[in-house]
Amino acid sequence: MASKHVDANRVVICGGGLSGLTAAISALEAGVPVTLLEKGAELGGNAILSGGMIWTYADYDRMRADIPNGDAMIQWMIHENIDAARTWLATQGVDLGPDQRCHEDFGLGRQMQPPQAIEALGKRFVELGGDLRLESPLDSLITDNGAIRGVRIARDDRVTDEAARAVVLATGGFQGNSELLARYVLKNPSNLYLRSNPWSTGDAFLAATQIGAAASPGMHNIYGHALAAPPARFSKWEFRDVSQHYGQKAVAINLCGERFCDESIGGSEDTLNQSLIHQPEGRGFYIIDHELYDSKDMHASKVVTRVIVDRAKKAGAPVVVADTIEELCKKLSAFGIPEPRVLRELTEFNQLLQSGRGDDLLPPRKLHRLPLVHGPFYAIAVKASITFTMGGLAIDNHGRVVRRTASSSVLANVPAERALDDSDSQVKRIGVEYRQTVIEGLYAAGCDVGNISHYEYAGGLAPALATGRVAGCNAGAFVKQKAG
Ligand SMILES: Cc1cc2nc3c(=O)[nH]c(=O)nc-3n(C[C@H](O)[C@H](O)[C@H](O)COP(=O)(O)OP(=O)(O)OC[C@H]3O[C@@H](n4cnc5c(N)ncnc54)[C@H](O)[C@@H]3O)c2cc1C
Repeated sequence: MASKHVDANRVVICGGGLSGLTAAISALEAGVPVTLLEKGAELGGNAILSGGMIWTYADYDRMRADIPNGDAMIQWMIHENIDAARTWLATQGVDLGPDQRCHEDFGLGRQMQPPQAIEALGKRFVELGGDLRLESPLDSLITDNGAIRGVRIARDDRVTDEAARAVVLATGGFQGNSELLARYVLKNPSNLYLRSNPWSTGDAFLAATQIGAAASPGMHNIYGHALAAPPARFSKWEFRDVSQHYGQKAVAINLCGERFCDESIGGSEDTLNQSLIHQPEGRGFYIIDHELYDSKDMHASKVVTRVIVDRAKKAGAPVVVADTIEELCKKLSAFGIPEPRVLRELTEFNQLLQSGRGDDLLPPRKLHRLPLVHGPFYAIAVKASITFTMGGLAIDNHGRVVRRTASSSVLANVPAERALDDSDSQVKRIGVEYRQTVIEGLYAAGCDVGNISHYEYAGGLAPALATGRVAGCNAGAFVKQKAG
């Protein structure tokens, strides 16, 4: 089938999740033609599976303090743009709740209803004259003299090229690509459940790096939550139900019966999940007592512990219950956990906390220093997961993808032997160009942008919305200017 005739002076957006839809509508509002390519059979990506809380840090200084190794410039971009972006979103037909504090009060967000939001944005895009193509995955980028000229779409055995002056990459990261995960994140990607849409397989990252884009720092960091362990079965719509959000207050042991990290640190259970991914099989048990099981405190998924544990059990995850710690450890041996090891671990945990010597715990335990005292005790089998990769493409403050090398015209002027001399002004110029050179016409948004979160999590939807706005507005303005 021949592709329909379209204006080369247009923006192509790759990815129909929150960042892609935001960028697409923003570019249309700038007055240029826009084509949106979505790999899946429907719009929404991870955004439609999400809890819908569009939050990030309320305070930029706190964000920097908690995530000092994240990219300060992009974090500032999000902080500076997010309020206006949420207000803009509400004008696009998306039902948004009022500002509310979240994440132990350091977060500020507005609640959307994901299916309603995606439907409204899809409708708005088409109403504004956008060209929507489902099941049309980006394969590679077409360039001429280093500038973007279009995209190649590969579907089944059919390949089509589409001309474009600007392309926004918004494909949601590379969590679905086990080869890239093995390269950047962990040796054994089978340690992870995929808590994500299945289509975010790093197509944009591969296409962009193939034409010289720079990868961000922090490629090894990921976001996810421990889920109900096999043989549990659940659909993608139940990812949130089987996420074990109370983990920070539990004692986490791996399959060797050992504590392996400070469970309590980080803004949410995702930090513990990042340690669990490196444990044997990415699996373990979260151990809690009846007090936590019965607590009225709500977790990030807005339910209490009892509900989460019961859902894990219902999904089919092993949940061991016993009246004493000794009996619990005996029962855990049926799952291959060495009884003496886990008993020693839990006994020591309790003894040090009860005797006021919590600082002697190894691994340490900074917060939630409560011993397991109130029976019955519960051990819930968990397995690590990945929702998105925190590493990705490096961008500048206009959302433009940065090159990993200086432009060829700059390099061509530098004799090789002089490139080693630090005092050389030409080399200094390269240093500047290196940081500032972008791939003309190429933008990135959402989880395709790397190092917003770095180990610690700054939110997923808010960065997608804010970077989508920046990339879409700038790509639209760029094409408009080029079209004269
Ligand atoms: C269960 C769950 C709960 C969550 N809850 C929250 C929450 O409450 N708050 C929060 O801030 N974050 C939450 N998140 C994270 C949030 O959903 C993501 O961070 C956000 O959706 C990222 O937006 P995105 O546009 O980058 O990616 P996505 O929304 O995932 O969209 C990417 C799109 O790109 C498409 N795509 C992939 N490859 C190609 C290709 N080659 N060509 C064309 N299209 C392609 C995909 O099919 C997908 O539609 C949650 C995620 C999950 C899974």
